[in-house]
Amino acid sequence: LERDALSRKKHNIHVSGSNIPSPLESFVELKSRYKCKSYLLRNLAELGFRELTPIQMQAIPILLSGRECFACAPTGSGKTFAFLCPILMRLKHASKDGIRAVILCPTRELAAQTARECKKLAKRNKFYIKLMTKQLVKSADFSKLQCDILISTPYRVRAAVRKKKLNLSRVEFLVLDESDKLFELGLVKQVDSVVKACSNPSIVRSLFSATLPDTVEELARTIMHDAIRVIIGRKNS
Ligand code: ADP
Ligand code: MG
Repeated sequence: LERDALSRKKHNIHVSGSNIPSPLESFVELKSRYKCKSYLLRNLAELGFRELTPIQMQAIPILLSGRECFACAPTGSGKTFAFLCPILMRLKHASKDGIRAVILCPTRELAAQTARECKKLAKRNKFYIKLMTKQLVKSADFSKLQCDILISTPYRVRAAVRKKKLNLSRVEFLVLDESDKLFELGLVKQVDSVVKACSNPSIVRSLFSATLPDTVEELARTIMHDAIRVIIGRKNS
């Protein structure tokens, strides 16, 4: 515990909540502690990831332990991998169980960028990673689509859920990325209905943001239970 505190201090990681998992020190530890598969480590090496960023050090073990979290870390600090890594590790490989992870982004551009990063990280593994586009929703057999990880704006997911074209009852991970922007853009209602449609009781929700205004923190506390709060640096820098 002393060691955890020192490590957090060194990396400017501030946490609150109960039973918080120790921060991860390295990719080597990701393998020894959490049995990270070699395909993922190889992809990371290819992408030039040598060291974990502070948000990754703390958020990855939290989500791998099945705990919910809301996290605030500066732009460019590697938040995408902080949630994609535990999702890829926990889902293990493709399945026919339907959608098991949903990542909501405030804009289509950000959703497309996240989908590209996800595909790069998942290389050498046969995941079905889908970016929700207009064409995809319109396609005739959309409801039979094989998909493990769905990446979308909240608007598009909600529309598809309403038309009963999307079943989210088996979703194990729900991520709200750039949640401060989700708020600014007035997307809270859409987010809320997606949260409700993800009815699996053992779902792990998380929220990532560059700033943590009170509105975002309130949302986090209403939709998550026993969540751990992680802040890198200062709250609204
Ligand atoms: P954020 O969402 O916090 O703004 P991103 O997740 O988009 O940041 O990451 C910014 C850039 O840093 C991306 O190009 C990403 O691939 C890269 N990156 C993320 N994690 C690492 C790491 N551990 N080592 C090296 N580069 C990284
Ligand atoms: Mg981001």
